[in-house]
Amino acid sequence: MRPDERPVAIAGAGIAGLTAAIALARFGFAVDIYERAGALAEVGAGLQLSPNALRVLDRLGLLDALSLRAVAARSVTLRRFGTGRPIAEVPVQGSDGTPYLSLHRGALQAALLEAAGAEPRIRLHLGHPVASVSEHADCIELAFAGGTSARARCLVAADGVRSQVARAAGFADPSPTGTIAWRTTLPVRDGIAAPTGIDAWLGPRRHAVAYPIEAGAAVNLVLIDQADAAAESDPVRHLLRRFSGWDRRLLGWIEAAAPPTPWPILSVDAERYYRIGTSTLLIGDAAHAMPPYAAQGAALAIEDAFVCAAMLASRPSVDAAFATFEAERRPRVEAVRRRVAFHRFVYHLPGPASLVRDAVLAVQPKASLARGLRWLYDWTPPDIATSSPAP
Ligand SMILES: Cc1cc2nc3c(=O)[nH]c(=O)nc-3n(C[C@H](O)[C@H](O)[C@H](O)COP(=O)(O)OP(=O)(O)OC[C@H]3O[C@@H](n4cnc5c(N)ncnc54)[C@H](O)[C@@H]3O)c2cc1C
Repeated sequence: MRPDERPVAIAGAGIAGLTAAIALARFGFAVDIYERAGALAEVGAGLQLSPNALRVLDRLGLLDALSLRAVAARSVTLRRFGTGRPIAEVPVQGSDGTPYLSLHRGALQAALLEAAGAEPRIRLHLGHPVASVSEHADCIELAFAGGTSARARCLVAADGVRSQVARAAGFADPSPTGTIAWRTTLPVRDGIAAPTGIDAWLGPRRHAVAYPIEAGAAVNLVLIDQADAAAESDPVRHLLRRFSGWDRRLLGWIEAAAPPTPWPILSVDAERYYRIGTSTLLIGDAAHAMPPYAAQGAALAIEDAFVCAAMLASRPSVDAAFATFEAERRPRVEAVRRRVAFHRFVYHLPGPASLVRDAVLAVQPKASLARGLRWLYDWTPPDIATSSPAP
């Protein structure tokens, strides 16, 4: 498709929206990003970024800068919840040496914002909540909550798990999964033993994950629990009670960290389609938010963003580009969804079943664990040439 027509519109300046904007600009498209928030704060906590996502960020010239604010992990250590004893080490590096990083979400957002700000083809419109979209013969029209409107060639809707674009198109709202993620961070200081890599403690109906962020200066902690557990008003006391008897290193971090914030875990209906009409495409969490048991939400959002831009650049029309996108992305996203369900089942096994799991994992050679994840981590972005970053 020729890039020198009307701009492409993007709803949402999150991970998917910013990545899509940068990729589109590198393919020569003018882009208008419409973001609901009036200012972009560095929100969120830690993030693991696997090689499949980092290959995209590398293509966009962002990997080196990100690596400076991250920690590279060779493997994820699965541990018994009570003793912290390692059950297995799952290798996570790409076969081609692409790293697996842990970092603060704000570091990723800052890198994306800086790259988007350097692209003259990208215009960021803050304080523009998209309310609805209508299709015309030669363009689409976005209506904003404030009553104004804008036209574009097509819309890439990256407006997150509670996507208004999806809702306006008649899709069901996301549903609670019955689990809750408690997230916090703490600085590494005297008396705090920092994790050296990514640790996951597996327990009955809950698990916990800790990893270094901010180049090792802080620890990110995520505790996944059932949402039905009656919460006390003090989140630290609540978690110390819910995770009582777990590894003392983990409990020490809970006590020392800022009070954790609860995030209800939502997922969207697997039947949701990515294309709406001929000129609107849902990407990232708006299309397929899923529980964070495989640390792939942001990674899939980044993959989606690049593939969407590459399809618009290489197909003759928006319709053809979005149809190819859907055909290519659906099987991959469904495979990740199955993996997430598998992790949820295996991580939360109770009593004797968990001992069988541990015994099976313990005898698996590392190479075999790595082979089982190649389809996920060795994904590479389509080989369609982009231009260099704007000088
Ligand atoms: C506990 C937890 C841990 C996680 N850990 C990981 C991990 O380790 N690795 C990983 O890959 N993923 C992880 N994820 C998932 C990851 O955070 C998400 O998948 C990712 O942020 C989705 O990006 P997105 O751009 O689609 O949506 P978002 O980042 O939510 O961005 C959506 C943007 O759209 C804007 N917006 C909303 N409505 C409108 C509107 N109407 N008009 C205009 N703009 C709008 C929002 O303000 C926001 O800026 C985790 C998630 C959770 C809950």
